[in-house]
Amino acid sequence: MTAFLSLDGVRRSFGDVTALDGVSLDVAEGEFFALLGPSGCGKTTLLRILAGFETPDSGTVTLAGEDLTRVPAHQRPVNLMFQSYALFPHLSVEKNIAYGLHREGLPKAEITQRVGEVLERVGLAPAAKRRPHQLSGGQRQRVALARAIVKRPRLLLLDEPLSALDRKVRAEMQLWLKQLQHEVGITFVVVTHDQEEAMSMADRIAVLHQGAVEQVDSPVALYGAPRTWFVADFIGGNNFFSGTATEAGLSSEALGQLPGTTSDQSAVSVGEPAVLAVRPEQITLNDGDSVLSGTVLDVSFYGGTSRIAVEVPGHGTPVLVHRHGAPVVVPQQAVDLSWGTADAV
Ligand code: ATP
Repeated sequence: MTAFLSLDGVRRSFGDVTALDGVSLDVAEGEFFALLGPSGCGKTTLLRILAGFETPDSGTVTLAGEDLTRVPAHQRPVNLMFQSYALFPHLSVEKNIAYGLHREGLPKAEITQRVGEVLERVGLAPAAKRRPHQLSGGQRQRVALARAIVKRPRLLLLDEPLSALDRKVRAEMQLWLKQLQHEVGITFVVVTHDQEEAMSMADRIAVLHQGAVEQVDSPVALYGAPRTWFVADFIGGNNFFSGTATEAGLSSEALGQLPGTTSDQSAVSVGEPAVLAVRPEQITLNDGDSVLSGTVLDVSFYGGTSRIAVEVPGHGTPVLVHRHGAPVVVPQQAVDLSWGTADAV
């Protein structure tokens, strides 16, 4: 991959808080890239450094071969879309979008043409004369995006772009944002703490934890081949079992033999302490085989899936199970849990 945007050893502390602890990343041109991590992991600080609102204590930021580390925000070919959208309430949609171009001193005819084009692209031409308060949340979000892309930045940074929207609109906007990014071809770096959002939109995701990059990969690779415990847990959730590695999986003093395999044979040696991670959706209930037995603690139904927590004697935390469809078990019921060897990592 040829890097378009490169971060190399970026560090930033605030007093004795290390927000970024040596972050190195490469993003390709035209990529939809997500910075994902829990609150406080440093993702906003990283985005602000890319925008030029914050300077790293050490390390460099390079865009298209140019060292941007000390270049002021307004001289960068980079635009940041804020979480709050920051629209001007007294200006119409089209004037909000045109604002940045006027400030750049572009000729009127060009502004009209570019604003018209962007309004069409984001599907807001019929609402061009409205003010922000006359729009839905999803429409306001599109105005903010239109305002960002009309300036034709080489890099667009988005800080939790969909967090103000309700769940349904959010899902629609995720799809829309991804399509828009492919159409306009601008490199997007989006910050989110929502793993589903990052997975549904991004080509690649950097998972951040305590100011450091845990793993950078496609959504499929992060889910299928997590390289750290943090990633295994943060992406998709996991049940972890500790014990000793055996040929067929793991031997646990309290739980017995648990089937499992690893895609990275060099990481685990037979006879050594190991941890087995099993995805909640890989566990089946009462299918004839039994790896573990337990009692249902809690059942919740999320429309498409049921989430079941099972107490297993000898295991400190409830084992989580996700199944398609409505729940087929009830609290207090005794259940057998099983999974195939190939399913565990
Ligand atoms: P959130 O999702 O909650 O916004 P985040 O992952 O974006 O979190 P940052 O905002 O980058 O995290 O913050 C990383 C760490 O740096 C946190 O511990 C935060 O308290 C600290 N921090 C960030 N900015 C400042 C600042 N201006 N002054 C002092 N500490 C700061």
